[in-house]
Amino acid sequence: MKLEQSKRLFERAKKSMVGGVNSPVRAFNSVGGSPLFIDKGEGIYITDVDGNEYIDLIGSYGPLILGHAHPEVSKAVKAAVEKSFTYGASTLGEIELSELVKVAFPHMDKVRFVNSGTEAVLSAIRLARAYTGRNKIVKFAGCYHGHSDALLVAAGSGLMTLGIPGSKGVPADAVKDTLIANYNDIESVKAIIEKYGKEIAAIFIEPVAGNMGVVVPEQAFMTQLRAITKEHGILLVIDEVMTGFRSKFGGAQDYFGIEADITCMGKVIGGGMPVGAYGARAEIMDLVSPLGGVYQAGTLSGNPIAMACGLATLKELQKQDYERADWMGKEIKTCLEEAAVKYGIEVTVNQFGLMVNPFFTKEPVTNFETASKSDTELFSKFFWAMAENGLYIPPSQFESWFLPINMTDQELNKVKTRIVKAFEAIG
Ligand SMILES: *Cc1c(COP(=O)(O)O)cnc(C)c1O
Repeated sequence: MKLEQSKRLFERAKKSMVGGVNSPVRAFNSVGGSPLFIDKGEGIYITDVDGNEYIDLIGSYGPLILGHAHPEVSKAVKAAVEKSFTYGASTLGEIELSELVKVAFPHMDKVRFVNSGTEAVLSAIRLARAYTGRNKIVKFAGCYHGHSDALLVAAGSGLMTLGIPGSKGVPADAVKDTLIANYNDIESVKAIIEKYGKEIAAIFIEPVAGNMGVVVPEQAFMTQLRAITKEHGILLVIDEVMTGFRSKFGGAQDYFGIEADITCMGKVIGGGMPVGAYGARAEIMDLVSPLGGVYQAGTLSGNPIAMACGLATLKELQKQDYERADWMGKEIKTCLEEAAVKYGIEVTVNQFGLMVNPFFTKEPVTNFETASKSDTELFSKFFWAMAENGLYIPPSQFESWFLPINMTDQELNKVKTRIVKAFEAIG
């Protein structure tokens, strides 16, 4: 595989940007080698600056569920750009997108748009604290909720890949009210509630974890988590930034039959433009400024181009077949499992709808600890074998792959054939 141009650009990028990137995982630290510089994308394909073509199973880490440059979405964005870029004033697009989000999450009365998932979650922390008058928050080991201080502890993927527990520059005081429970382990939640119950404002969770690799929690765990939080007056904040609109036109909370007190969104709802959102019933949301005393604002929040992109994406998703999407996820899972067996490699594959990834370990992966047992060196080899075979997957063992929902049968078969070849290369 020829990567000369990518290598040259990386050397140049490192001189003016930290590590040559604007988000750490892009530096390929955990798989070694030089990161790919991408030139363009169309449908499920991307082309790097050396002219190599790949099927893209990253989808920009989630937003591009419809693949690249979807014609309807492109059209909507171009029409928005023609008018202007931003006004710092209200537009029709914001109303339409918020109404569509409410169709998908019927228990949500009101939504506030922000610019990233990180911003959605940090706003949700403030709101939960204001609503309950309590300060402590609980998160689960291995879940990632963006890079805000209070939640940057035991936070999965980027940090997991780097092998560091938190982040420098986060004062101890900023995380002193953050408690850590074990994913999929209701007893660990009960123990924390027993000790701190009346001080806990909210529990934050990825309803299906994607930031320690894919981990689907047990139904009983989610049901009990909902019941126990309600019982103790603790808000349940479900972070659907990754899972929203991924396995159905709605969230993973629907899959488990539970309702969040506050839902955080991002990724898909912007369709590739920078958007995040948080929403809840009116009683909670009305505490946010200008109605209430919880201040939260943004120069570019509800940006008209981003709204147009998100709106066109969600409208397209309403026409998509989510049952087939889950079938595709299962096809890839089976393919990974069978190829691994064929070439004598031990993997455990977890899948939820269009989210899937192989852990290079034979043990079941149900939480952070079991995910950590994966053979990351073997994963690195696999990553490059996949690239050689024209498949672009996240350069980390602990990131979910994101399949495009509109892949054709023919394209799916191509992916499967290439997966088998990659296993053959490392087997
Ligand atoms: C990606 C992600 C975030 C952060 O979103 P950004 O837009 O990257 O700030 C938060 N929570 C979850 C579950 C995510 O997957």
